[in-house]
Amino acid sequence: MVDLQGQYYKIKPEIDSAIMEVIETAKFIRGPQVETFANNLSKYTGAKYVIPCANGTDALQIAMMALDLKPGDEVITATFTYAATAEVIALLGLKPVLVEVDEKTFCISSESVEKAITPKTKAIVPVHLFGQCADMENLIEIAKKYNLYIIEDLAQAIGSVYSFNDGSKKQAGTMGDIGTTSFFPSKNLGCYGDGGALFSNDELITEKIKMIANHGQKKQYYHDIIGVNSRLDTIQAAILDVKLKYLDEYCKARQDVAAFYDNAFFNNSDITIPYREPKSTHVFHQYTVLVNSVDRDLLKQELATLGIPTMVYYPLPLHFQKAFASDDYKLGTFPVSESLCKKVLSLPISTEMDNEQLEFIVNNIITTINKLKK
Ligand SMILES: *Cc1c(COP(=O)(O)O)cnc(C)c1O
Repeated sequence: MVDLQGQYYKIKPEIDSAIMEVIETAKFIRGPQVETFANNLSKYTGAKYVIPCANGTDALQIAMMALDLKPGDEVITATFTYAATAEVIALLGLKPVLVEVDEKTFCISSESVEKAITPKTKAIVPVHLFGQCADMENLIEIAKKYNLYIIEDLAQAIGSVYSFNDGSKKQAGTMGDIGTTSFFPSKNLGCYGDGGALFSNDELITEKIKMIANHGQKKQYYHDIIGVNSRLDTIQAAILDVKLKYLDEYCKARQDVAAFYDNAFFNNSDITIPYREPKSTHVFHQYTVLVNSVDRDLLKQELATLGIPTMVYYPLPLHFQKAFASDDYKLGTFPVSESLCKKVLSLPISTEMDNEQLEFIVNNIITTINKLKK
């Protein structure tokens, strides 16, 4: 699905020397590269504060902890997404309230969010799924109206830009109270292991986040609140600081792959190409189509035998996961999400694909669908 080796070889000397510098200075934890990277990412995204941490799931957990939510408080998120978001809500004794997604963007539906609000609702967690921003214009309005926090999960959308009605533009992760992201290797900005970060424009929230990520201490060995241990390794920060310089280039390469697929499928009723929300740029963490006229799993299987890897993000909505099971969730509770789970297919997309590979993929998808239709 991704070609991380090819990506590495293109910038090998820079990466190798960044890693060696950390090893030679032996500042593996809290080395200066961590702060340098945080500052550079802050400049890139426009987030006033960037606080690195150990991974994207930790970032979500630390964000929820920083907002002083109480057990039983309700946090609204989408049912069609990666489990991490709802998982940390439940882990902290909060109540994940799952809602439907928009059938075009696959991101959380703001109408469904508003309908799910109760006096216990404290926060909304939109996930900018597959590389495109959720409906932030309306979500921010709803959050203001009901006095709710917004935590944006931008693990799949770093660098995506959202345009508001008033003409202002903001990057994913800088529009709500806190943004959380992951530097998992296959993410658009990925390191060579685990990594994550939180974004905020608020100084007090940032101070709280820093304390929580560091065992609840401001001064060493004085623990004011209950925290966790969540750090970005210096080696990972050094790698990320090199790769950040190439993020726009990587993004463009992904958009070029997407344009190739678009062009191949836009007139094809068997495949629905990803919708482009006019208010958001799309950084294509995934290129996810809907398979309309044949069995998605059969197509996936056939493509695998031809050497074409595809993925299903996600096969089961959260409301049908055993971990989040509830009697309230019957078949048909969230019909859009349930249908998406049966039809979505993510095609190979990486920064290192050439037209020959893309033609091979496209031609085989078309012939395989035609074969399966007979
Ligand atoms: C990858 C991802 C996460 C979790 O990131 P980790 O670094 O693997 O913990 C959370 N949310 C979304 C939407 C993701 O894609």
